[in-house]
Amino acid sequence: MLQKREWYKRVTTIPSTTTLRDMEGRQTDRVIHIVIDGVSHKFLDEVMPDSIKHLKKHGTWVDRCHTIWPSITGPAHTAMNSGTYAGTNGVTLPYVVNPEDGTIRQMNSLAESRAESIVEALFRQGLRSAGICGHMNRGMQYFVSEACIGHHAERVTDKAIKAIDDFDPDYLQIVYFAVDTVQHVYGVNTDDARESLLWVGEEISRLIEKEAGKRTTFVISADHGMVATTDSTNDLLAPLFKELGLTWHGYGRFALLWGDDPKSQLEKLEDGVSSDPKLSRVVQAVWSKDNELATLGARGESYGIGAILLQPSYSITSGSSGTYPGNHGGYTKDEILVPLIFSGAGVKENTKLDFAETVDIAPTICRLLGCEAPKDAEGRILDVFLETSDDLMAGESDSKRMETLGKLLG
Ligand SMILES: [Zn+2]
Repeated sequence: MLQKREWYKRVTTIPSTTTLRDMEGRQTDRVIHIVIDGVSHKFLDEVMPDSIKHLKKHGTWVDRCHTIWPSITGPAHTAMNSGTYAGTNGVTLPYVVNPEDGTIRQMNSLAESRAESIVEALFRQGLRSAGICGHMNRGMQYFVSEACIGHHAERVTDKAIKAIDDFDPDYLQIVYFAVDTVQHVYGVNTDDARESLLWVGEEISRLIEKEAGKRTTFVISADHGMVATTDSTNDLLAPLFKELGLTWHGYGRFALLWGDDPKSQLEKLEDGVSSDPKLSRVVQAVWSKDNELATLGARGESYGIGAILLQPSYSITSGSSGTYPGNHGGYTKDEILVPLIFSGAGVKENTKLDFAETVDIAPTICRLLGCEAPKDAEGRILDVFLETSDDLMAGESDSKRMETLGKLLG
């Protein structure tokens, strides 16, 4: 029996994708999609590691890229990986609360997403994908993880380079979690946070060297940003919720609300907030299910009747959500505006796009690879291409959406 373990030695080649690489419309041999978890557009701009500066200079970058709400890892990755909003794919929250008894059910992004992932879409069209970390992109043919919390950026890169050598993927997604973890634990915009981002930058330069001279496209993105969360608002807000008969659950940067008379209760909550100077300083907005949440694509029973959003530096927590010096989940610029850069084969150099959403990433990557977007995708195909065609969705609809999202952001 034992000698059968040597079977692998007889397999000297993996199936060639050469023919697929020549397929019509394909503008790149490989897309390397790097997700720097938890890095805001602003923070990346301030620190700007040399490797990313290089990619930006030689690529197309987005001035204002909005991630989805809620700006939390599981839902935000699922949205980015499928091109759909949370209400469409069903991965609405990291965990769902039953308002009746306060019990909690964890959500599993892989099992519960109703939307086709970019990996599934590419596989259906004959391309193959590898993933290093990031356990929220369903259907990988090659996947290696390196834990989620506090992982080692260099080991992540080692595994990515091995994936390129051993598997030669058309689409390689690498998720670096280090910057997210460090900001949660050591705070936002601290020396530690800067150092962790520079470290990831060094690792990205190894990938750029690895792909030198090849027809590869790099995509740099993030799932959400981060704000400092120094003050808890639990004691301020809980009495008002009680007075209005609202059940609530705090997710860190926002609380979901439940009640029998949504319209009147939310109106009274807004009045209560605006008439109290202390409350109006900490509360950013009160959102209803049918209005703001629907606009953001955050539909579904799990959101209750609406949400209360907090200004930066404030938090609201219920046991399970924990307290950190840095957190995210809200709808402020530092949480919602994330970096987005396309650079390399098939992409215009030194070009700025005004606006995008993270749901646009999957459809755009599919186009670079000459493929159709994931089946359920709601995002646009961004105009990053050297060779443009007129079916790119841009222009008017962009400016309308940009204005709507901008108003919510304040
Ligand atoms: Zn995250």
